[in-house]
Amino acid sequence: MVNAALRTEGIASGSVRAFNINCGVLSGVNRQSLRFCMQLVCRRFHMDGVDVNIHKIPAELRCECGRSYGADSVFLECPACGGLQHRVVAGGDIYLESIEIDDD
Ligand SMILES: [Zn+2]
Repeated sequence: MVNAALRTEGIASGSVRAFNINCGVLSGVNRQSLRFCMQLVCRRFHMDGVDVNIHKIPAELRCECGRSYGADSVFLECPACGGLQHRVVAGGDIYLESIEIDDD
Protein backbone atom coordinates (compact mmCIF):
# COMPACT_ATOMS: atom_id res chain seq x y z
CA MET A 1 0.00 0.00 0.00
CA VAL A 2 2.74 2.45 0.98
CA ASN A 3 5.00 1.75 -1.98
CA ALA A 4 2.10 1.85 -4.44
CA ALA A 5 0.84 5.15 -3.03
CA LEU A 6 4.27 6.76 -3.21
CA ARG A 7 4.85 5.58 -6.78
CA THR A 8 1.37 6.58 -7.93
CA GLU A 9 1.72 10.07 -6.51
CA GLY A 10 5.40 10.43 -7.50
CA ILE A 11 6.45 11.10 -3.90
CA ALA A 12 10.05 10.52 -2.79
CA SER A 13 10.13 8.50 0.41
CA GLY A 14 12.52 11.03 1.97
CA SER A 15 9.91 13.79 1.79
CA VAL A 16 7.18 11.91 3.69
CA ARG A 17 6.33 13.31 7.12
CA ALA A 18 3.21 11.29 7.98
CA PHE A 19 0.76 8.70 6.80
CA ASN A 20 -2.88 9.22 7.79
CA ILE A 21 -4.86 6.02 7.74
CA ASN A 22 -8.56 5.59 8.38
CA CYS A 23 -9.41 2.31 10.06
CA GLY A 24 -13.03 1.31 10.50
CA VAL A 25 -13.99 -0.41 13.74
CA LEU A 26 -15.61 -3.21 11.71
CA SER A 27 -12.62 -3.67 9.39
CA GLY A 28 -11.25 -6.50 11.51
CA VAL A 29 -7.89 -4.75 11.68
CA ASN A 30 -6.25 -4.15 15.05
CA ARG A 31 -5.03 -0.56 15.03
CA GLN A 32 -2.02 -1.24 17.25
CA SER A 33 -0.91 -4.08 15.01
CA LEU A 34 -1.41 -1.89 11.96
CA ARG A 35 0.71 0.87 13.50
CA PHE A 36 3.46 -1.64 14.30
CA CYS A 37 3.40 -3.02 10.75
CA MET A 38 3.42 0.46 9.23
CA GLN A 39 6.45 1.39 11.32
CA LEU A 40 8.26 -1.70 10.02
CA VAL A 41 7.32 -0.74 6.47
CA CYS A 42 8.57 2.80 7.03
CA ARG A 43 11.91 1.46 8.24
CA ARG A 44 12.08 -0.88 5.24
CA PHE A 45 11.64 2.09 2.90
CA HIS A 46 14.08 4.30 4.83
CA MET A 47 11.37 6.48 6.36
CA ASP A 48 12.37 6.21 10.00
CA GLY A 49 10.61 8.81 12.13
CA VAL A 50 7.60 9.17 9.83
CA ASP A 51 4.40 9.57 11.82
CA VAL A 52 1.75 6.91 11.36
CA ASN A 53 -1.61 8.37 12.33
CA ILE A 54 -4.41 5.86 12.52
CA HIS A 55 -7.87 7.31 12.87
CA LYS A 56 -10.66 5.18 14.30
CA ILE A 57 -13.72 5.37 12.07
CA PRO A 58 -16.98 4.55 13.86
CA ALA A 59 -19.32 2.06 12.29
CA GLU A 60 -22.72 2.82 10.88
CA LEU A 61 -25.21 0.16 9.90
CA ARG A 62 -28.38 0.63 7.86
CA CYS A 63 -31.21 -1.79 8.53
CA GLU A 64 -33.53 -3.01 5.81
CA CYS A 65 -36.28 -1.07 7.65
CA GLY A 66 -34.40 2.12 6.79
CA ARG A 67 -33.00 2.98 10.21
CA SER A 68 -29.30 3.88 10.44
CA TYR A 69 -27.46 3.36 13.69
CA GLY A 70 -24.00 3.24 15.17
CA ALA A 71 -22.56 -0.10 16.20
CA ASP A 72 -19.36 -1.75 17.31
CA SER A 73 -20.42 -5.14 15.99
CA VAL A 74 -22.34 -6.40 12.95
CA PHE A 75 -24.38 -8.53 15.35
CA LEU A 76 -26.08 -5.55 16.96
CA GLU A 77 -29.84 -5.59 16.45
CA CYS A 78 -31.61 -2.64 14.88
CA PRO A 79 -32.93 -0.35 17.65
CA ALA A 80 -36.10 0.30 15.63
CA CYS A 81 -37.23 -3.18 14.55
CA GLY A 82 -34.85 -5.62 16.26
CA GLY A 83 -33.74 -6.99 12.92
CA LEU A 84 -30.31 -8.15 11.89
CA GLN A 85 -30.69 -7.55 8.16
CA HIS A 86 -28.45 -4.57 7.60
CA ARG A 87 -25.52 -3.40 5.58
CA VAL A 88 -22.38 -1.62 6.73
CA VAL A 89 -22.39 1.93 5.39
CA ALA A 90 -19.34 3.18 7.33
CA GLY A 91 -16.53 1.75 9.42
CA GLY A 92 -16.08 -1.48 7.51
CA ASP A 93 -12.95 -0.60 5.61
CA ILE A 94 -9.42 0.65 5.95
CA TYR A 95 -7.70 3.07 3.61
CA LEU A 96 -4.84 5.49 3.28
CA GLU A 97 -6.50 8.88 3.71
CA SER A 98 -3.50 11.11 2.98
CA ILE A 99 0.27 11.43 2.95
CA GLU A 100 1.87 14.52 4.47
CA ILE A 101 5.06 15.61 2.75
CA ASP A 102 7.67 18.31 3.15
CA ASP A 103 7.20 21.23 0.80
CA ASP A 104 10.94 21.50 0.15
ZN1 LIG B 1 -34.64 -2.10 11.48
